[in-house]
Amino acid sequence: MYTYGSTSINNKGNLAIGDVDTIDLAKQFGTPLYVYDVAFIRERARGFKLAFEDQKVKSQVAYASKAFSAIAMIQLAEEEGLSLDVVSGGELYTAIKAGFPVERIHFHGNNKSKQELEMAVESGIGCIVIDNFYEIELLKAICSEKNATINILLRVTPGVEAHTHDYILTGQEDSKFGFDLQNGQAEEALRTVLDVKNFVVLGLHCHIGSQIFETTGVLLAAKKIIEQMLHWKNKYSFEATVLNLGGGFGIRYTKEDEPISPYQYVSEMLKEVKKLTEQHSLKLPEIWIEPGRSLVGDAGITLYQVGSSKEVPRVRKYLAVDGGMSDNIRPALYQAKYEAVLANKPLEKVKEVVSIAGKCCESGDMLIWDLPLPEIDDEDILAVFCTGAYGYSMANNYNRLPRPAVVFVENGKSTLVVKRESYEDLIKLDLPLY
Ligand SMILES: *Cc1c(COP(=O)(O)O)cnc(C)c1O
Repeated sequence: MYTYGSTSINNKGNLAIGDVDTIDLAKQFGTPLYVYDVAFIRERARGFKLAFEDQKVKSQVAYASKAFSAIAMIQLAEEEGLSLDVVSGGELYTAIKAGFPVERIHFHGNNKSKQELEMAVESGIGCIVIDNFYEIELLKAICSEKNATINILLRVTPGVEAHTHDYILTGQEDSKFGFDLQNGQAEEALRTVLDVKNFVVLGLHCHIGSQIFETTGVLLAAKKIIEQMLHWKNKYSFEATVLNLGGGFGIRYTKEDEPISPYQYVSEMLKEVKKLTEQHSLKLPEIWIEPGRSLVGDAGITLYQVGSSKEVPRVRKYLAVDGGMSDNIRPALYQAKYEAVLANKPLEKVKEVVSIAGKCCESGDMLIWDLPLPEIDDEDILAVFCTGAYGYSMANNYNRLPRPAVVFVENGKSTLVVKRESYEDLIKLDLPLY
């Protein structure tokens, strides 16, 4: 059996994560339960950072906290010396409450509100990634009102879009994000921000997609941006001190996925950037990246209690679990695929193929189609792998299901880091009519 992340089989024959028995975790904390292997997250973070160190390139590796934002996770990112991406006032608030150094926080988003931008400026945020002309005016007004100076990056769309195994080249990129490089919007934006005295224009940002398995796309994007940098140096004497190449590094959800290591990805990226900047006699900017999924995705699993089943003769058997699209909406939203095992008998011989259904009142609430499993008993615990990214962060209360708890495990120890929601929590904001 292939084990994901740092899961293993312990001497009781149970699935373990970070050397902690998953059956014990289900008993102690209940189900559904998100469990993260902290050592795995640390290892990934170090892999990204090492690639920069080995190539002697100044960098920031910013954890894209939308993948999983919680106080403990932000603190772990801080322990590993990462920077942090936030995309909303709520994520920024979480980071500030976690005590994360604000000067290493970068603020993204295509529609940051006045209130969110004010909060960012007042907190002394490290950098704002400007997405559109509306935002330039809004931020300019806020900075001048508060007499504040702010670091900015311009988000550009280089006309390269990555889709897992392929990438598309579009002349005019059809995206809600950023300034287009080819139609002159990026250049107009640059001219505009260079004229704002409260802005320190650090450089450029691009993010070409997610769950990417090869470097072709990012190398192409880097090439297009660096060519523009040369043009802008000649025309405006503008030299970018930062080039942010985004996130999107793929992980192995199922056997079909073949990601390359963070180390290899970053190394190839850096070689290309060095080559291109040398070619054009540009000074090598600091390189920033923004991994989300690849830092936390395969570090997390979800444990469920199995429940009812339904046999549709000659068609399929459904096996329901005590969660579903409320704790993992990715299968319903993106047809995302996952692997899973029965955590109390991961090595037992396969007996049947079942489809794992959630418990929400929605036919589309399916977690996994056609999963081979051993004989199923009432007390079995299903462990779904690779749920660490966009699981908890996209969790919702559909059908008024309380959101699961989150546990960190490391060195054989487990720590509750997000409490399970209670029924009380569910009605906390409701105001009665009488
Ligand atoms: C979502 C996002 C990321 C992180 O993407 P992952 O696929 O989780 O690595 C990074 N940067 C930007 C701008 C994003 O929108």
